[in-house]
Amino acid sequence: MISLARMLIRSLVVVLLTSWACGQVSARLETADTELVLEAGVSSPKLISLEVPGQPQWTNRSSEGLIPFAEVSGRQVPLTWRLDRNASEIGSKRVAFVYDSANPHLRLTWEWRVPENYGPVEHQIHIENLDPQEVWIPMQDSLAFRWQVAPAEPLEHVYVEKGADTPSPVGTHEASIDDRYRWTGTSSTYGDIHSEQPREIVPWSLIERVGTSSGWYLGIEFSGCTRIALRRTGDGLEGEAGLNPDPAPFRSKLVAGGWFQSPTVFLGGFGGGVDGAGNVLRRWVRAVLGNPLTWKDPNYPLVVNNSWGGGMGVNEEVARRMIRDSAELGVDMFHIDAGWFRAVGDWHPDPQKFPRGLAVIADDAHQHGLRFGMWVDWTQAGLSTEPGALNARDPRVRDWLVTDLPADWKPEPFKGQTIDLGVAAAKEWAERETERIVTDYHLDMLEHDGYLVAHGCDRSDHPHAAPDPLNKCVYKTWGSYFVDSSNSTDVSYHAVRAYYDIYSKLRRDHPGLLFEICNDGGRMVDFGSAAHGDYFSITDTYDPLSNRRAFYDTSHVLPAAMLESYVEKWPTPHIENFRYMLRSGMMGWLTIMQDTNSWSAEQHAEAKREIDLYKKELRPLIRDANLYHISARPDGVGWDAIEYWDQNRGKGVVYVFHGTSPEEKTHSFPVRGFEAPHHYRLIFQDHSARDRIATGEELMASGVKVDLPMPNSSELIFIEELDR
Ligand SMILES: [Zn+2]
Repeated sequence: MISLARMLIRSLVVVLLTSWACGQVSARLETADTELVLEAGVSSPKLISLEVPGQPQWTNRSSEGLIPFAEVSGRQVPLTWRLDRNASEIGSKRVAFVYDSANPHLRLTWEWRVPENYGPVEHQIHIENLDPQEVWIPMQDSLAFRWQVAPAEPLEHVYVEKGADTPSPVGTHEASIDDRYRWTGTSSTYGDIHSEQPREIVPWSLIERVGTSSGWYLGIEFSGCTRIALRRTGDGLEGEAGLNPDPAPFRSKLVAGGWFQSPTVFLGGFGGGVDGAGNVLRRWVRAVLGNPLTWKDPNYPLVVNNSWGGGMGVNEEVARRMIRDSAELGVDMFHIDAGWFRAVGDWHPDPQKFPRGLAVIADDAHQHGLRFGMWVDWTQAGLSTEPGALNARDPRVRDWLVTDLPADWKPEPFKGQTIDLGVAAAKEWAERETERIVTDYHLDMLEHDGYLVAHGCDRSDHPHAAPDPLNKCVYKTWGSYFVDSSNSTDVSYHAVRAYYDIYSKLRRDHPGLLFEICNDGGRMVDFGSAAHGDYFSITDTYDPLSNRRAFYDTSHVLPAAMLESYVEKWPTPHIENFRYMLRSGMMGWLTIMQDTNSWSAEQHAEAKREIDLYKKELRPLIRDANLYHISARPDGVGWDAIEYWDQNRGKGVVYVFHGTSPEEKTHSFPVRGFEAPHHYRLIFQDHSARDRIATGEELMASGVKVDLPMPNSSELIFIEELDR
């Protein structure tokens, strides 16, 4: 761990300008974990090196190239970039090297920023069209690199999958980077809708020098179609991160005065292994991308009761009963899921189910001390002809759809056809509609779902590139039409920017309003969403094992408080199984998704105790503590565990789960973060063992031993430091 004094010195001495004179400019940006040297050549910039304090440097042989040509009036024009020294800036927290092209007149800003004095450094490329005419540009990567590595040097690559649909059996990948290593990971908002596609990743990758517990990681702060690619060739480890160039060719239009911005990436060094990286990155995501108002709320992450346990059957009577029971259980928010509306695209309460509207339900929740949240699939068009509905047959709305729908098309019960938010009129409609929904229904939380971002688009009169007429594929999945063509990435680029604008405005106009990012459960888990929403639905499968697996994977890179598990009804013949079910969703944001009125008196009392425990003891740790993955990823058969340790409070907890295996009745887990000479009290919540005192040395050497003979059971071991 870096000392406070050293951190202060680093934050004071962050820039070192080595030369202005001989045509090249170099600069240095530092955080406690990451030191970068940057250079501005006459015709291109370069990342020179990355250093993790105390570790050998990573030397870069080539950076991302600047786009070599543009299209003007249908002609390809080669670009000559020249460094503009006067416009370039070297500051203590930001380095921006500016390059100009005379014909067409473009300005490119290659920028690096230090948003915190620890963690990674952010990087993006901004291209502005200063020409009086429209210009088309090809793919500009956010970041490219070719690190020099010794041919035999052992390297490991770590990446995690999204929990989309159902978490796969692997989820967290640790791959040895051998000579022939070739890997591409992709992220979009519609991952895994084709089972033949590889699973999508949370757009992040970590490279560790084996044996040093040190290396670097990068991530992408964007929800559109992105990719990270890695290859080992000879003495190089090369790769790219940014928008996904596949399907090619990518092109994007810059109107006169318009601009393009490569997705922001972050690049950081780490020590202390994968959890060491995660403990810095999670804190950084909270500080840099998170909503300060949300994190100021001591009740974040909330405990929620969601109506989807009864599916589409929610109505006023059900809602009021759930609200009463939620208050009795000590829940923080009542959340109406799908089923409340008149029809898809017609986001008004169903008059049969809610004859007095939704505001009265919200007010009832508020009177019971609860917040009120709601599911809205607000980018989806249907067939309702009621005033204000998003009707796919309305000539104006028809032009916002990604393709012409056949005459017999019908929406599904809660899924329709996605509109292309990249179209200005569609974005304006969505802005007005989300504003109306939040205001009229007195919302404290808005959950979006469905496929928010258009998947490709057939139209040639939208702001994105037109599809390739000879190479496109239109198909239907789950009632929606999708288009695959060379414009898919550009379509997502425009739609995601519009989505971010809509949510930024809602956040400004409704401080304290929470946003749940749900895109068919776990398909939109990325760092761009993290910057625009408050928490993620991390998977679409809600049994204890799927919840723990999705949490295990995503908690490597995102704050645990942002990771929501829906706890659905599950067979619980014993109260121990009931606790196991609940606790499998209690490591991050807890949403109960079952009819709590159907619980037995014993289960009800147990849930109330667990919710109280969550709010008083677990929530502060979930918010603030370091997190350690102290077991292998859950398989549901053997044992698994997660540890939280908050050094500042001297408090922690180990969540232990015993799967279905009846054989192994006892298991020991290694624990981390303790100081050898200090004393710690271990409190076994369910009294599976007698409470005891141990030294840090003993804990680090022997770990924590747990006796849980019953399959599908759990224990929480609270740890308190005594020498404080
Ligand atoms: Zn479109």
